[in-house]
Amino acid sequence: MPIALLTLVSEDEQWFKSSQGLRAVATPRSISFCGHAILEEDTFVVEDARADSRFSDNPLVLGEPKIRFYAGEPVRRGGQCIGTLCVIDSQPREFPDADRQILKDLACLIEAEFERGHLSETQAEMIAAHDDLKRRASIDGLTRLWNRSAILELLSREVALARRGSELTIAMIDVDNFKLINDTYGHPTGDRVLSEVAARIRSSIRDSDCVGRYGGEEFLAVLGGCLPEDAQASVARILESVSLDPITFKDASIQVTVSVGYASFGKPLRDADSLLAAADAALYRAKTTGRNRASFSRAS
Ligand code: GH3
Ligand code: MG
Ligand code: MG
Repeated sequence: MPIALLTLVSEDEQWFKSSQGLRAVATPRSISFCGHAILEEDTFVVEDARADSRFSDNPLVLGEPKIRFYAGEPVRRGGQCIGTLCVIDSQPREFPDADRQILKDLACLIEAEFERGHLSETQAEMIAAHDDLKRRASIDGLTRLWNRSAILELLSREVALARRGSELTIAMIDVDNFKLINDTYGHPTGDRVLSEVAARIRSSIRDSDCVGRYGGEEFLAVLGGCLPEDAQASVARILESVSLDPITFKDASIQVTVSVGYASFGKPLRDADSLLAAADAALYRAKTTGRNRASFSRAS
């Protein structure tokens, strides 16, 4: 198909969240095919728009992009249809069941991504399961991240998801030469540095990823649904965001770096401990080869 779009449809406009093969950013809803598709339960297919009285005089059919064929799968969020995943051709064509199924599967993946964009399943579950008191007991007081027991609980939930086929990478992040920072600037400033490093790590990863304070100056990020390649990009962002600007206080400006060991499951898939051990070994490598860098291990 020459054109594939992820559209979001509002009251009077359709907007292209992602597009292949089309340069437009948005079109009025009144002339859109997707405006029809979102009202359907099932895939909306027009095999030949010129032969369809609803579309034969449509400007998108008569002019560019000269739509002849359209298939749109509704995309839902929270039970409501918000847009479509659609494919378009300038030739009339048929759309066999096997193709419909592929379009449906892809739309399903998009819906899953929209859900992940907010909070991961595991974090949402844990927040729902905990009352206010327990939730407060899961948060680290200094950094406002998950504390050690909470991040380990989230890890074991993500490991369970990984057993059902989901991807999982973890990253162990340790502040470099932190003892020296304490010795030079004092423990209270050390605390403020830790809290800023935590914020920088949090802002470098997706909302759906979990991060907790694993030990004194050590953090654990759980990157669920993340292939090692994607994790590599997250880890690079962490290194950069911590080291790019010094952490500045009234009386001091402190250059801080971290080292990262990250690990994914190989096959066969084992338990959280083997993943933690692999990340730990990778972190050791990052430290011994010069710090301010990342190293990867596959858990076996
Ligand atoms: P490396 O690069 O090898 O990780 O060196 P490092 O100095 O960071 O590692 P080391 O384990 O020798 O020292 C960690 C220091 O972190 C020692 C400890 O006193 C300090 N620390 C741990 N928790 C806290 C905290 O909550 N606040 C402060 N200010 N310091 C802490
Ligand atoms: Mg350290
Ligand atoms: Mg340490």
